[in-house]
Amino acid sequence: MPEAMGMIRKSVRAFVKRDLMPLEADLIAREAARGHDDAPLLPAEIDRALQDKARDAGLWGIDVPVEMGGQGFGALARVVITEELRRSIVPFVPPPDSPNLYLLKELCVGPQIDKYLLPYASGVKRSCIALSEAGAGSDAAAIKTRAERRDGKWILNGSKMWISNARRSDFMIVVAVTDLQKRARGGMTAFLVDRDTAGVTIPSSYPMMGEYHPYAVFFDNVELDDGQVLGEVGNAFVPITNRLGVRRLDIAARCIGLATRCLEMMIEQANTRSTFGSLLADRQAVQWWIADSYQELEMVRLLTYRLAWRVERGDKDFRLDGSMVKTQATEMLGRVVDRAIQAFGAMGVSKELPLEYIARMGRVMRIVEGPSEVHRWVIARNLLRNGLPDLSAA
Ligand SMILES: Cc1cc2nc3c(=O)[nH]c(=O)nc-3n(C[C@H](O)[C@H](O)[C@H](O)COP(=O)(O)OP(=O)(O)OC[C@H]3O[C@@H](n4cnc5c(N)ncnc54)[C@H](O)[C@@H]3O)c2cc1C
Repeated sequence: MPEAMGMIRKSVRAFVKRDLMPLEADLIAREAARGHDDAPLLPAEIDRALQDKARDAGLWGIDVPVEMGGQGFGALARVVITEELRRSIVPFVPPPDSPNLYLLKELCVGPQIDKYLLPYASGVKRSCIALSEAGAGSDAAAIKTRAERRDGKWILNGSKMWISNARRSDFMIVVAVTDLQKRARGGMTAFLVDRDTAGVTIPSSYPMMGEYHPYAVFFDNVELDDGQVLGEVGNAFVPITNRLGVRRLDIAARCIGLATRCLEMMIEQANTRSTFGSLLADRQAVQWWIADSYQELEMVRLLTYRLAWRVERGDKDFRLDGSMVKTQATEMLGRVVDRAIQAFGAMGVSKELPLEYIARMGRVMRIVEGPSEVHRWVIARNLLRNGLPDLSAA
């Protein structure tokens, strides 16, 4: 790991300790108090203050290219920064959110650059991705939302489900079927849809386990012009699944950060808590929790860094690696947080500590962005079709 990465890690760690960790107790209380409401867990004024502090600490536009006003760091720096930020449960993300940035950077052309890409890259505009539907989650190719050609326009009809941040977005990246015969093989198109466009409504949200609160989004005869097509007509599927590949890098980095926090807490607890005249650290059961957690964490970390390096190298297809890191990272977090909770006994399941919050987040992460079973299926299908990857080209 280059020296610069160590410095970035150190400065984010200081920011997390100074500015995020003190907010955790309030966050836990706010989450418990909001019930079914979709109130943000970080109120706007706190989010704004954190954004200012993050900007001062150099945590801004991390992987935005320099020519777009960003810092031009690569995917690895983004992973290291996300990892460190997620040693805290405070859901602060310095804009912009990476996965949509990759998609917009790859596909925006002409006036889309000024209208969407640049304001997004500088944190002025927020976006969300609207792919899943009631009958099409893992099986995204089964979506029914249609965009039909009428009088030189695209007319969008349908509904999306589970869309994160929809109400807080300025625009959405919406995937629709434009050719019923071809569907995922040349018949699905992505559109840039402003949230305030006539016919777009966000009627309800879904309260969920953990901090998540996605939305339903409806499209009723929404009129779009050609300038709102993102990428090529009919060819949304590969860039969108690649966007999900980058997203998986992000999720893995979050899991590494949260698991690191759990492991640190477990070590401290083992070294300080005595029962029956001995420290927990002297019990082999506890030692094995710590040893296994560390090994599993480090394996996931290396796998994740390799994927980041491939993204930086400019590889175009991350589906195999993305599925691996997503599955391994989310399942690793589940095991590590469970051991940490056990090591703390009653305190572990109380809201005095962040562990029960992390356990709930970790559980959701095994479903969002594709359940583990689907990722295992993707990995197996890839290997069965193509054989093992060529390591000399790795
Ligand atoms: C918190 C949260 C936020 C989300 N945010 C967004 C968002 O911003 N935008 C968006 O478009 N979507 C979003 N989603 C949707 C998410 O991507 C889907 O929930 C996910 O892909 C799973 O789809 P599903 O819920 O329809 O489950 P289904 O596809 O119905 O699957 C149900 C279960 O069946 C099993 N299964 C399915 N297929 C297979 C298979 N081939 N082999 C073996 N087992 C299988 C799995 O165990 C799976 O958990 C979000 C979801 C959550 C939970």
